Amino acid sequence: MQTEEVIIIGAGPCGLSAALELKRQGVDPLLIEKGNVANSIYHYPTHQTFFSTSEKLEVGHIPFISERQKPVRNEALTYYRTVAQRENLRINTYEKVEKVHKVDSGYIIQSEVKNGQKKEYQAPYLIIATGYYDHPNKLNVKGESLPHVYHYFKEAHPYYNQKVVVIGGKNSAVDATLELEKAGAHVTVLYRGKDYSPSVKPWILPLFDSLIRHEKVDMEFNADIREITEDRVHYQVDGELRSVEADFVFAMIGYHPDQGFLTDLGIDIDNETGRPHFNEQTMETNVDDIYIAGVIAAGYNNNEIFIENGRYHGELIAKDILQKRNGR
Ligand code: FAD
Ligand code: NAP
Repeated sequence: MQTEEVIIIGAGPCGLSAALELKRQGVDPLLIEKGNVANSIYHYPTHQTFFSTSEKLEVGHIPFISERQKPVRNEALTYYRTVAQRENLRINTYEKVEKVHKVDSGYIIQSEVKNGQKKEYQAPYLIIATGYYDHPNKLNVKGESLPHVYHYFKEAHPYYNQKVVVIGGKNSAVDATLELEKAGAHVTVLYRGKDYSPSVKPWILPLFDSLIRHEKVDMEFNADIREITEDRVHYQVDGELRSVEADFVFAMIGYHPDQGFLTDLGIDIDNETGRPHFNEQTMETNVDDIYIAGVIAAGYNNNEIFIENGRYHGELIAKDILQKRNGR
């Protein structure tokens, strides 16, 4: 069995940042990543522009230069993989961590690689930086699993001249609507809120609002989705049942961390917020020597921790692990 000093699960921006901070302190952690570096960003909409400036997406104080003030997805992918390469981060890619259990000397980490082969590691410290993007929220209505219903948006071209319903009212829903309308889709947005969400970035809201006011996009507020069928979405507004035609449906209703993975480790989760229990000074969970980094710390709220602030978790973790190693 391979023995490591620190294992980090997930090589997204916050896992990478934790690895860089540890390296700076003389610890060379192993990252285990089920896809490749920055796998969640790879799965973003193809033409995504970040709302953060490139400087705020930097990890390990390594400059991120982009053509415009706010980078696009492909620039971020280039940046994060170049950081991994230049800093010689040890990353086992296409390897999924499946189980972790406690032994006297730390933790046994069991994983599976692409060809189905199982691997095992032992480490005294574990950092979980697995994000939330693999687990879309669900409407829990009939028809949600039909093949024309998606929880991720990639590109608009296939939806030219199609009737598309977008569900949700924050940044993913608004971004998808802007792109779909531009590509000639007939879009209806169904949002459960009674007005535009204050979370929508102020520079995209006027564009979205203009499409609604000029009737280029239909929008229903207070829309409670009841059922999706082959060709319609049924919803209720103030007790009245309504429906709209839909060739395709994008349920852009957010994402949540894999809570089961955390609870199996003994990490307590707040039922209401979905937040794991952890010490904010060190990011250590209620389970000794298991830390969390990145958006996984925010629970169900997708608008609290981003790369911008999650990238600082690594510093806190590295400091605590170093102090423990040096006997405080
Ligand atoms: P992630 O980036 O999700 O990384 C988690 C990694 O863990 C993934 O690579 C995943 O494959 C891996 N993993 C998961 N489970 C396992 C397992 N069992 N074994 C091995 N590996 C595993 N934030 C900003 O600050 N600015 C922005 O402009 C911005 N724009 C965004 C745009 C979109 C469309 C979306 C969806 C999000 C945006 N965010 C932005 C939020 C940002 O993407 C997240 O905050 C960021 O990805 C969090 O980084 P992370 O390292 O915590 O998690
Ligand atoms: P989100 O911020 O969690 O928003 C989800 C939306 O879906 C909200 O409007 C929510 O309603 C609605 N919703 C949630 N559950 C629902 C349900 N069961 N039924 C009906 N509606 C439901 O998710 P997101 O927009 O996908 O954003 C995810 C993350 O990506 C965020 O961090 C966001 O900032 C980031 N992002 C960034 C960019 C960018 O940088 N340009 C673009 C897109 C996304 P309420 O409003 O009532 O909560």
